[in-house]
Amino acid sequence: MTTAVLGLGANLGDVGTALRGAVAGLAAAAQVEVLAVSGLWRTAAIGGPEQTDYLNAVVLIETSLEPLALLGLAQSLEQAAGRRREVRWGPRTLDLDLLLYGTLRLDSAELTVPHPRMGERAFVLLPLAELAPPLVDAQQLAAVAGQRMECVATAQQWLQN
Ligand code: ATP
Ligand code: CA
Ligand code: CA
Repeated sequence: MTTAVLGLGANLGDVGTALRGAVAGLAAAAQVEVLAVSGLWRTAAIGGPEQTDYLNAVVLIETSLEPLALLGLAQSLEQAAGRRREVRWGPRTLDLDLLLYGTLRLDSAELTVPHPRMGERAFVLLPLAELAPPLVDAQQLAAVAGQRMECVATAQQWLQN
């Protein structure tokens, strides 16, 4: 079994339903156990076109799925939420990234872990610091302090609604 971290984000359509659906989909998947879910954070979009704020969270799981199978599961949950790939970094109904897979370092065409941009994103580092402080680099956390972020709900609050 490997501990892995997934990052969730959405800013199009019924965002709460999509994010809760992603957590439920992970929990229901074979060979995946959800260990912990972060609070829900509102963040301004970085990169891509002008667009509405995102809601983001991270999920800590334990899994016996291989990394590519876990990526496939994430992509099937994106599809189930109606994800279309249009503009790069454009608005989306659900984005489900594999941030960490144990201590694995992998750089292939389909999958790079750790996620190559996680260290510069407050919307990944702050929720992750909530769940698993040892997984977050203090210097990286300090470097993203200027990015506007607010926690809008605890895990218990947003998973219930
Ligand atoms: P970013 O990667 O900057 O967060 P994004 O999430 O908008 O951007 P997508 O369009 O969702 O990018 O994904 C593009 C491709 O990235 C996917 O088809 C997938 O194969 C690849 N990819 C590589 N590494 C990862 C990873 N760690 N998690 C998710 N997708 C990854
Ligand atoms: Ca992403
Ligand atoms: Ca993605």
